[in-house]
Amino acid sequence: MLGEIRGEVRFKEPLSFHTSLRIGGPADIFVMPQDIDDIRHALLFAEREQLPVAIIGGGNNLLIGDRGMRGVVLKLEGCLGRAEFHGEEAVAGAGVSLSALIREAAALNLGGVECLVGIPATIGGALAMNAGTHDGSIGDFVSAAYFLHADGTLGEFKPGATAFTYRSFHFPEGAVLVGCRLRLHRRPLAEIQKDIKQRLKSKKATQPLALASAGCVWKNPPGDFAGRLVEKAGLKGKRINGAEISAKHANFIVNRGGATAADVRALMDLTRERVHAHFGVTLEHEIRIIGE
Ligand SMILES: Cc1cc2nc3c(=O)[nH]c(=O)nc-3n(C[C@H](O)[C@H](O)[C@H](O)COP(=O)(O)OP(=O)(O)OC[C@H]3O[C@@H](n4cnc5c(N)ncnc54)[C@H](O)[C@@H]3O)c2cc1C
Repeated sequence: MLGEIRGEVRFKEPLSFHTSLRIGGPADIFVMPQDIDDIRHALLFAEREQLPVAIIGGGNNLLIGDRGMRGVVLKLEGCLGRAEFHGEEAVAGAGVSLSALIREAAALNLGGVECLVGIPATIGGALAMNAGTHDGSIGDFVSAAYFLHADGTLGEFKPGATAFTYRSFHFPEGAVLVGCRLRLHRRPLAEIQKDIKQRLKSKKATQPLALASAGCVWKNPPGDFAGRLVEKAGLKGKRINGAEISAKHANFIVNRGGATAADVRALMDLTRERVHAHFGVTLEHEIRIIGE
């Protein structure tokens, strides 16, 4: 079944090549599918061999263990990479880059999603994470999501009011998101461009974008900001080997070079302890921690 895959199949692929943090040990079987049939072949192979399956989009929100991942890892960035626009609606494949979608929509005078600009993501990863900013999350725009079940059948999901919550999307367990429909609205290109410029400027001023990271490590606790708590706990700039709590934004951990997953985990443990000791707040991580 792996032989039927038209995309690439690699063995012992270092996952540090595929994460924005540049951390992660090898994947036993790493598949870069070319189309939906390739995804099906990979899922059926994993089911037959009783192997675990993990999905990666752009790898921008992941901390992957230093010993890597057993089973099959499917990387969807670059696959299912088409977006179409019909009236005020976009239909996008899971591998479409979120920023490309925002740009393409803007060129057609379609807006709404520009509040998500600057979030490095595939559409699949943005959906799974319900990626967003203070001004909105992708779930606010989704009218339908499409997925592939582990047995290779396709499904459609019309999200209700509770499907998307803060940084998560409650979709069927084990399913692979393959695309979605997004509701947009008419807005002049010049207005969208001005908005995008302002948002990117503010991100650049407040986030360590020149360094490897996975974005915000912690979810904001209700009514507060995780970054504020980490900073007040005196941890800005704290370093363990190559991993550092950013001096620019305390909710980011950056890889200064050679950081391991163990270094990042040690910084996270320290942060959780210190913040709890100072404020009685237990931080919950936003980044997804996977692998061994
Ligand atoms: C510099 C920087 C800034 C960031 N700023 C923000 C921000 O402002 N707001 C925000 O919300 N996030 C932010 N992030 C985090 C990250 O960009 C988002 O979480 C994004 O949605 C991750 O998308 P991805 O495609 O890289 O997904 P990945 O990191 O590859 O995966 C994330 C999760 O989604 C799952 N997944 C991915 N694709 C699929 C699929 N097709 N089917 C099923 N499951 C899937 C994965 O299994 C994993 O659990 C930032 C990250 C960085 C590095």
